[in-house]
Amino acid sequence: MQMIKAAVAHEFGAPLVIEEVQLRAPEGSEVEVTLDAVAICHSDISYAEGAWGGTLPAVYGHEAAGRVSAVGANVRGLEAGDSVVVTLIRACGACPSCASGSPTVCETPYDGDKGPLKTADGGTLHQAMASGAFAEKVVVEQSQVVKVSPDIPKEAAALIACGVITGVGAVVNAAGLRAGQDVVVIGAGGVGLNAIQGARIAGARRIVAVDMSEEKLAVAREFGATDGVLASGPKPWRAAQKAMGRGADAVIVTVGAIPAYDAAPRYLAGGGKVIMVGMPHSGAMSSYEPVTMAFMGQGMVGSKMGDVVIQRDIPWMVDLYLQGRLKLDELISGRWSLEQINEAIADTKGGAARRNVILFDR
Ligand SMILES: [Zn+2]
Ligand SMILES: [Zn+2]
Repeated sequence: MQMIKAAVAHEFGAPLVIEEVQLRAPEGSEVEVTLDAVAICHSDISYAEGAWGGTLPAVYGHEAAGRVSAVGANVRGLEAGDSVVVTLIRACGACPSCASGSPTVCETPYDGDKGPLKTADGGTLHQAMASGAFAEKVVVEQSQVVKVSPDIPKEAAALIACGVITGVGAVVNAAGLRAGQDVVVIGAGGVGLNAIQGARIAGARRIVAVDMSEEKLAVAREFGATDGVLASGPKPWRAAQKAMGRGADAVIVTVGAIPAYDAAPRYLAGGGKVIMVGMPHSGAMSSYEPVTMAFMGQGMVGSKMGDVVIQRDIPWMVDLYLQGRLKLDELISGRWSLEQINEAIADTKGGAARRNVILFDR
């Protein structure tokens, strides 16, 4: 058992507290990773606000990168010193979903209350999202970890763990976008910018960004959007359809706002699909007109973590970054220490931020 520093949530909606906690050594197929960087995601903030419930005290944080510092006896293919990306995608490998190539919806539950973390005095400490990465080190399942080139800076690699795979994967995997198709991306934040660059990489013809601010639409263009539409105007889908000359083959909803979900089907072409990525708070409802979707052969499908297979998808994203074809450095808006995490969270909540990254000195 070792003591590490972590940012602990004791109460929903209250600031995180930096304190010493216990981390046990990796067992079986677990890996210990000493972190260089962890990014702050809107999911961490929603959890910390109590939007989705969960046990307290808890350690959030799930977009991380670092180096392997210890491995369990059954780990194969990873060793101390390897550069890795750590994700929350804990996959058992044996359930029907994992066995059919959909590890992001693994059916084997994980109880973070019985994970590797304990409070300093040995009490229950919840390892949120099977990660608990607002901490100097994590102990996670090997399935959550991907070895990557040491050439990619860890602050860039950390972003791939969640926001990048979620956005790029929504377009490439969930929408199955083909070259020449048209895409609308609602929300030009951390995930939306990645959906936009995913659409560019996939060879989309028109990529229309929809957001509430001109400033975000300008950033969207830097990431590959061909057109921008302000969501605040009346019937923004009309402006989007004008830009495309038709409806969209895929509409990627990257924000958790209900008006975005309500409007999404209106942007579609016949046969098009809404990809549901943004996560509203539990209990929030949206509505749509079934007759239109049935008549037009349209669909809506949820996409969790970009439907990725991390061992397949993360190495190619790292390679695209190293070739200069995937923007990651441009996604970082601020760098902070673990002690500054509450300020970094406040900055992310402010809305203008792309991604804030916590960096660890070592
Ligand atoms: Zn995330
Ligand atoms: Zn599984």
